[in-house]
Amino acid sequence: MLKLDRISVRYGATLGVDRISLEVREGELVTLIGANGAGKSTTLRAINGLEPLAGGSIHFDGHLISGATPAAIIDRGISHCPEGRRVFPQLTVRENLEMGAYRRLDRQRVASDMERMFDRFPRLRERAGQVAGTLSGGEQQMLAIARALMSRPRLVMFDEPSLGLAPNIVEQIFGLVLEIRAEGTTVLMVEQNAYAALEMCDRGYLLENGRIVDQGSAAQMLANPEIRRAYLGG
Ligand code: ATP
Repeated sequence: MLKLDRISVRYGATLGVDRISLEVREGELVTLIGANGAGKSTTLRAINGLEPLAGGSIHFDGHLISGATPAAIIDRGISHCPEGRRVFPQLTVRENLEMGAYRRLDRQRVASDMERMFDRFPRLRERAGQVAGTLSGGEQQMLAIARALMSRPRLVMFDEPSLGLAPNIVEQIFGLVLEIRAEGTTVLMVEQNAYAALEMCDRGYLLENGRIVDQGSAAQMLANPEIRRAYLGG
């Protein structure tokens, strides 16, 4: 479904990612793990059209998407839930959800999708008219996820969905990611919490210094002694 072929992204003199190849098949939950600065966010931003490539190519459903605008990439069916739950703080919850659907022309279905989102997240319905900046961290993450779903993506990318959240909220968020996948949406997830990510994914890739240094099924990666030592606390 998604295929990255030796992509590189350059920040001035440094390579944020260096000839990364990876694949996500339809229906899979794939995770990218690795330390801070390994290139995980950069990879998602490149897929999303937010970072130009210095080399390589990205295909989605057989179409070349590298070089396309972020809007065109949303139209193809890829959505991004960015790191740090970047909701629009001055906009209301409802307006944030509308922003998630800004490319859609089927306005009636957008309205019914919004209702379904409120059914799924009653807290967001209660706060529909409240500006997003006043929500708790967990509520903002729910909103960021709901907003990402409002474009009706076929592939959704989560960047560190658990970052900075209390353990019980983290559990809810991971539950939600699993639900989204169970509904048939393909998921590519970046996580610092390597253990949780590998427990829930089908396959994983390990990034170090902008490169993929290991990959495999969740079980293979969880059993790998080097990964256990460096990323899973022994
Ligand atoms: P984190 O979990 O901290 O987000 P990451 O694995 O997502 O880490 P990236 O944010 O993708 O890592 O960063 C990869 C490399 O690119 C790092 O060396 C980082 O310092 C560098 N980098 C990222 N964004 C920029 C930028 N806008 N300008 C310059 N260098 C950047």
